[in-house]
Amino acid sequence: MKLQAGYLADFVALLFPELCQACGESLVAGEDLICTDCRFSLPFTNFHLKPDNIVAQQFWGKLNAEAAYALCYFVKGGKMQHLMHQFKYKGVQKIGNMLGNIAGEQLVLSPVFKTVDLIIPVPLHKSRLRKRGYNQSSCFAQGISEKLSAPVAENNLVRVRATETQTHRSRFSRFENMQEVFLVSDPEKLKNKHILLVDDVVTTGSTLEACGTELLKVEGLKLSIATIAYAE
Ligand SMILES: [Zn+2]
Repeated sequence: MKLQAGYLADFVALLFPELCQACGESLVAGEDLICTDCRFSLPFTNFHLKPDNIVAQQFWGKLNAEAAYALCYFVKGGKMQHLMHQFKYKGVQKIGNMLGNIAGEQLVLSPVFKTVDLIIPVPLHKSRLRKRGYNQSSCFAQGISEKLSAPVAENNLVRVRATETQTHRSRFSRFENMQEVFLVSDPEKLKNKHILLVDDVVTTGSTLEACGTELLKVEGLKLSIATIAYAE
């Protein structure tokens, strides 16, 4: 006898219910990754409606950005911390995509963000990427891309160790004291484009500043910034 896939899935779900990645409660049919309660009670910032928000302010005088945004506030012990933990350390990549979808739905409502041409995730160093298996900023970027109808460009902004720069001819900006720097490998492709640079959590903003400084060396490039969460 062939068991119908639907029944089998229901049976498995009964034995091993999927849990909400934010609050740990069992999900019901139709819910994916997070429960409806959490979906609507995440600590959204609505920064897409506030051009002079606190993330934008962090870059004032440092980076000539068109706009800056974070989807949520990161509160210690809160739902976002749970969700980010599952996303960054438990390998639940789909969380990044889901949050990117929500962010994209908000950003498309902003006159500035909706003119974005290309989305670039903050890169990991290639050895780190190999170890981790995925770049969490790329998952978020993909999710935004689906709603903002702008493609994701990976591999153009690269992160290298300072010692590797001898093999690159372009100029580079320093990144903190970690001796890692960011390089644009093909500036032609970014010329006169509005780039959305994305990262997971913004704290001091130094990584984004280093990436943004490098990107802004490209002729005619406009820069905006989007992150999943803002942590004070
Ligand atoms: Zn929940």
